[in-house]
Amino acid sequence: MEPLLRIRDLHRTYGDLRALEALDFELHRSEVLGLLGPNGAGKSTTMRIISGALAPSAGAVEIDGIDLLRHPIAAKARLGYLPETPPLYPDLTVDEYLDYAARLRGLRGAALGRARARARERCGLTHSGRRLIANLSKGYKQRVGIAQAIIHDPKVVILDEPTGGLDPNQIQEIRTLIRALGEERGVLLSTHILPEVEMLCGRALILHQGRLVHEQPLDAAPPGNRLALRLGQPPDPTELAGIAGVTRVEAGDGKHLVLHLSDGTDPSGIADHCVAKGWRLLEMSPVGDRLEQLFSRITLGESAP
Ligand code: ADP
Repeated sequence: MEPLLRIRDLHRTYGDLRALEALDFELHRSEVLGLLGPNGAGKSTTMRIISGALAPSAGAVEIDGIDLLRHPIAAKARLGYLPETPPLYPDLTVDEYLDYAARLRGLRGAALGRARARARERCGLTHSGRRLIANLSKGYKQRVGIAQAIIHDPKVVILDEPTGGLDPNQIQEIRTLIRALGEERGVLLSTHILPEVEMLCGRALILHQGRLVHEQPLDAAPPGNRLALRLGQPPDPTELAGIAGVTRVEAGDGKHLVLHLSDGTDPSGIADHCVAKGWRLLEMSPVGDRLEQLFSRITLGESAP
């Protein structure tokens, strides 16, 4: 399958500083791809180049098979971009703003009306068209930001820290929206929240000092092969080791015991067993955030930007 976004040997320097070096990656349809890296790694530079706001020093960007540098207008027509700070005009209503965004994308007349209705519906703004942007909550403002990014129905959507500064409910809503967008398009998602990447992305790229240092598939990850347990009345560890699916028991941090599970073991069976035995199950959680560990290992020792 042809990728929706193809980045080839991308370089960008700022004076003597090499902000990006030999970056290569692809984004496919129905994929949410995470872009990770510590501050200064080159994420914004990458997103700004793909959005056409910044020229690369060398390399190529293809959006849906169209070369961004040779055919910028056609390529950008297939791309939607939500920068970290959404480009909103507080004095406009949601509809006025979406109409403005649609006109910038060359939409007029009936097509514009349809685009506005579709973007509003997609982003849960059906009843908010006449509201002034200034009066919207931060979560709704972010929905409007995403609505402008998809107003022209692009195949590729770039979202830069889309859940930054939102409260937990708003975060959930925006994540649901991102997941839905990713079903029908290609989404490049930059975020500092590693669990968010694990939740939403099928794959993550880790940038460090301008280079792609790791590419991690997340779909195939075993669903928590280690479990931390806190029991009010823990039995002898050999009893825990005897539970079906448990391959090993570790002492953990004193409060918790860590169970190693064989692939495919359902943690709820372990919970049932503990309850049935009267061991007073107080807490049970998967151990270790693999991506977090990977991230710190790869980017450790980074100098402050
Ligand atoms: P990230 O988004 O991952 O934090 P950036 O792409 O913003 O990283 O920055 C990558 C590197 O390029 C950093 O060292 C940053 O200081 C530098 N940089 C970014 N923009 C400019 C600029 N306009 N002029 C000079 N240096 C820049």
